[in-house]
Formats: sequence, C-alpha cells, structure tokens
Amino acid sequence: MLVVTKFGGSSLSCATQFEKVKKIVMSDPKRKIVVVSALGKRDSSDTKITDLLYILHAHLKYSVPYQDIWNMIYDRFVGVQKELNISYDIKVDLDLLYKELNKNISQDYLVSRGEYLTAKLMSSYLGYQFVDAKDLLCFNYDGLMDEATTTKNVKLAFSTYGTIVVPGFYGSYPNGSVKLLSRGGSDVTGSILSKCLNVTLYENWTDVSGILAADPRIIPSPRAIKEITYAELRELSYMGASVLHEETVFPVQQLNIPINLKNTNDPDHPGTLIKNVCTDESSIVTGIAGKKDFLSFNISKDHMSNEVGFLRRALSVF
Ligand code: ASP
Repeated sequence: MLVVTKFGGSSLSCATQFEKVKKIVMSDPKRKIVVVSALGKRDSSDTKITDLLYILHAHLKYSVPYQDIWNMIYDRFVGVQKELNISYDIKVDLDLLYKELNKNISQDYLVSRGEYLTAKLMSSYLGYQFVDAKDLLCFNYDGLMDEATTTKNVKLAFSTYGTIVVPGFYGSYPNGSVKLLSRGGSDVTGSILSKCLNVTLYENWTDVSGILAADPRIIPSPRAIKEITYAELRELSYMGASVLHEETVFPVQQLNIPINLKNTNDPDHPGTLIKNVCTDESSIVTGIAGKKDFLSFNISKDHMSNEVGFLRRALSVF
C-alpha cells in the first residue's frame, strides 16, 4: 500500500503549515512520496512565491530594479527555515540563485525554483530524500512526456531512497533544461508519480475539505461532495468549478487510482474521493456548476432527417 501525498501552496505558506504537513505525513507510513508546490499565500493580501518569481523574471528582463522583490522571496524562504530550525542551509542555495540572476535567465528555470526550494526545505524537515523533478519527469522538445523514461526514473528513485520529496510543476527537456508545466501543474506531477508507481491512492491536500456541490458565492454553505467519478469531475471542471488542474485525472484514471482531496487545516475530514465508479448512493445530484454568458438556440423543423445538408445550412447562419 503506497500513497502519493501532494500539498498545495496554501498548505506550505508558513512554518505553522509546514508543521501540519509533517504531522499528516508522519501519521501514515504509507505516505512515502511527497510532492510540494511552492510557498503559497499566508492570507488573501499575500503573494504566492510563484507569482513573485514571475514578477522577478519580468523585472530582470526589462532591466527594472529587482532587489525589493528578491528580498521578499529570500525572506520568506529563510523565515520558514529559521522558524522551524531546519538543518538545510537554504541561504547557500538562495545566494547561488542570486548570482545566476540576469537579463537572459530562463523563465521556466527561475519560476521552478519556488517548488525546488520548497521541496528542499520540506525534505530536510521530514527527513525524506529530496529528488529533483528534472531528473524524473522527462519531456521531448515538442512538450510531450517521455513516459517510458519518466517511469523508469521514478521507479529507480523510489526504490533507491524509499521516502522522497519531489518538487511539483516542472520536469526537463532532453538537454536537461527545465520545462515548466502550466499553472497549478504540481497536481499533475503528483498524478504522474502516482501512475509511475501504481500507488493505492493519490492524496491532494489543499485548504478546502473537498469539492463543494455548488459555488459558495452563489449558494450559501453548499455541502461537500463525498464521492465523484473522474467523468463527473471533468464535467464540473469544464463548467467552471476550479478544483484540480484539468490534466490531473488522466494519468491516474488509466490505472483506476482514486484521488482523495483533503484539507490540511482539517485533516480528519474525509474530503472528496474521485474514482471510476461511485458507491455513495446518498445523493442523486453530485454537483452543480455553470458558465455565464452563453446563449442556446433550439431549432426544430419537420422532416429534417430526410434533408441532406440541413445542419450545415442552419449552422452557416451563425
Ligand atoms: N506554484 C505553481 C502555481 O502557482 C504550481 C502549483 O502550485 O501547482 O501555479
């Protein structure tokens, strides 16, 4: 029994959140593979490390003074390390990165340092081995993943170290340079690792207790969905419910590995279980989502099935 445990940025925003993560990981020996996003927002007025890194890159590119932004990034990482007395000396890596800052630094590389440094902190804090995602997730130059090499790398890293922390959100091209996934891509990293190791469960920890059955901005206090199928989730996401990165489901669905969405701030809440077939019969409607500003037309015509080209002609009106 093996579990991949992925923590989003809000679960890693400060020392207190790191403590919660450690408690969660240590409370179940099956949680041997940990994937992390970069330090997220501490409150609604705060800025994610990933966003700061994008801003830093823009400052560098357009030769705008960047010291203030850099200091914010530096202070956040060092703050967590100091507060938790983590033995990994993050200042060394931050100083190295500072020396690398220049007008032409790759955006993918610079932004990926958010996850990289967060994973290094977390691995030292948990006593798990840090494994760089660039040595695991391999992509071709057309952006497609080389599944065979990735699977081989992941299996080897896991069998070598037993307990690992992997930064989410990036992998590498054949020449070793960093390839960033799209925003929110750490969810996908967790899913890929789950597939490579054919784990029993993929846990995805955020700051909400699973998927709500409706948008709380429209429906006051909707209930949380206990179980949902991969197909239903896709439907809800397509209609605007933002839950997981849309690519997350595919790797695990192939092997029927369930995804459990859980809340780092309320770990005893069962959250939402996403799987192929649901057994929970307690609700007829799983969830409701919608998009605004759509128009629908209903057109009817007798004897339509006898006419060739009717649909083309009707659609050409639009
Ligand atoms: N940190 C990245 C982002 O903010 C990736 C992730 O969190 O999954 O998009």
